[in-house]
Amino acid sequence: MPVDASEALLCWYAVDKRRLPWRAEAGARPDPYRVWLSEVMLQQTTVAAVKPYFERFVAAWATVAALAAADDGAVMRAWAGLGYYARARNLLACARALVAGHGGRFPDDEAVLRTLPGIGAYTAAAIAAIAFGRRAVAVDGNVERVVTRLFAVETPLPGARARIRALADGLVPDSGAGDFAQAMMDLGATICTPRNPDCGRCPLQAHCAGFARGDPARYPLKAAKAAKPRRAGTAYWLERDGEVLLVRRPAKGLLGGMLALPTEAPTEAAWRAAGAVDHVFTHFALTMTLMCAEEQAGGPDMAAPEALWWPVERIGEAGLPTLFAKLVARGMAWRSEECGAAVRNLEPAQ
Ligand code: SF4
Repeated sequence: MPVDASEALLCWYAVDKRRLPWRAEAGARPDPYRVWLSEVMLQQTTVAAVKPYFERFVAAWATVAALAAADDGAVMRAWAGLGYYARARNLLACARALVAGHGGRFPDDEAVLRTLPGIGAYTAAAIAAIAFGRRAVAVDGNVERVVTRLFAVETPLPGARARIRALADGLVPDSGAGDFAQAMMDLGATICTPRNPDCGRCPLQAHCAGFARGDPARYPLKAAKAAKPRRAGTAYWLERDGEVLLVRRPAKGLLGGMLALPTEAPTEAAWRAAGAVDHVFTHFALTMTLMCAEEQAGGPDMAAPEALWWPVERIGEAGLPTLFAKLVARGMAWRSEECGAAVRNLEPAQ
């Protein structure tokens, strides 16, 4: 059965594959740089969100050597909004490791790929298979879903992972592993979708135990999840002559290396609360309150290398991560209220 299922999937892929900017045209050799870049961007992120970022990255840095030589701040700005910022830092670290230790070329071996920054088991297998045609088993959430449905796996995740991997291994063909990996991605994204699998169009229907049992969408089974803890914090909007104070966050830790509003009061001022925003990270939910003020005498120490004044009108170009972009919207609302109040104070009494 697995061989038949693989053949059915590869035939479907040959006709119905998605055209994606990082995919090589039929017959052309895939560029490992583009495969790697797209796979890193696609971790935890949708194809639709990744496409414009991918296009911008390859336009700015066409090769791994160009990326290795890039300015860190420019790369972090180009990544802003895509989330999971450790990926961007690892991207740079990986590009530099490739230039320093591998002559600027990607190794074609899964085990060697895994030694590089930001390349885990899935990404290493995907690069080895797609870029180099190696027989490798790339198992991500899409593949887990398809495999648990195909074999009606009754063990919940995450306990079922070893079995899913073994089942997926049995499906991977000896040749065409790259097409197979991409076919699984396409099937999971377009037909065997999380909520409403379109089994009527599926090339694997005849092989699918989940479909045969009548309720494929119940797979994969998941163990009950603990609720995410909620944390609270404060950010500060300090304005002076049409500019707002930004800081570069420490390289390590949450949103490391990104420009952001300060999260500690940068100076004594008449701070006013301007509302709060909610944001959900992988391991916790955060409620961040925004405090706003105009700079008073004795402002912050601008010799601090991590602080800079940024024109409020060009704040959209600062490449702030999503949490801080939400806070900026609050800051802008506070400005217009302040401005309205100032104008009202100037109006003559009726
Ligand atoms: Fe998924 Fe349905 Fe295809 Fe089974 S038949 S693999 S459940 S789309």
